[in-house]
Amino acid sequence: IRDGIAGLASLAIERVRLNQQAQQAAVLQMTEKLQTALLNSISHDLRTPLSAVEGSLSSLLEAETNGLQMDRETRLDLLENATEEAERLNRLVGNLLDMTRIEAGALRIRRRPCDVQDLIGTALTQFQRRLQDRKVSTHIASDIPEVEMDFVLIEQVLERLLDNAVKYSPPGSEINVEAKVRDGALYISVADRGEGIPPEDLERIFGKFYRVQRPDGVSGTGLGLSICKGIVEIHGGRIWAENRPDGGAKFTFTIPIKASGESK
Ligand code: ADP
Repeated sequence: IRDGIAGLASLAIERVRLNQQAQQAAVLQMTEKLQTALLNSISHDLRTPLSAVEGSLSSLLEAETNGLQMDRETRLDLLENATEEAERLNRLVGNLLDMTRIEAGALRIRRRPCDVQDLIGTALTQFQRRLQDRKVSTHIASDIPEVEMDFVLIEQVLERLLDNAVKYSPPGSEINVEAKVRDGALYISVADRGEGIPPEDLERIFGKFYRVQRPDGVSGTGLGLSICKGIVEIHGGRIWAENRPDGGAKFTFTIPIKASGESK
């Protein structure tokens, strides 16, 4: 009987082992599939602006080498297009680099007291050309003190949120930027009039490479929000998304305000 039990036990152990191996193989296969999908999506996102730059520049070159007539407006259009696409490419590579730094814990922040009006003004000026025809309204409370933060990084968070607000809202719609102080923290929000976010995705969208599948096929890498989260959390703050009752998404992030004299 003892031998029988021992035999059964070793059979059971062998079965569990085989099961584990099969599971590991399945997980590995899934990871590889995911990596391939990711590589595909990143390559596609890099290639699209790169092809546009190449297209514009080669038209200009062809006209120049063959002595073709090209009016000033067309030349300007081509140059503008090449510049915009090169900027897009730069942002994309910047996103990948930022993500790597955040993951490696190597993102350095330089805190200094910042004026919030200046912060929002700078983000909107930087973003001006990409606003397309969206109208922006700002509400900045008058009682906000200077807040310790890395101006450049937080300005980038704002730009990324503005970028999404434009990407995921209809032409001509309004974007609201608000800043206020509550319970010892600075609150900044960016709200749009787009379709909003499916409730089950409200938290997941901050995950690395997470994207909501949309019928309109707006392209992206799913990195922007996870970078925002990384930057805000390094500052000791929080970031979240909600759907506005009257339609559209609203993103809010906080930065704790240190009382003067408090250690950093
Ligand atoms: P990307 O825009 O490159 O996909 P993000 O990390 O910036 O990456 O955003 C992740 C996902 O969150 C997007 O794919 C989109 O579905 C959703 N999202 C982000 N911002 C908005 C917004 N303002 N309105 C609706 N959905 C949004």
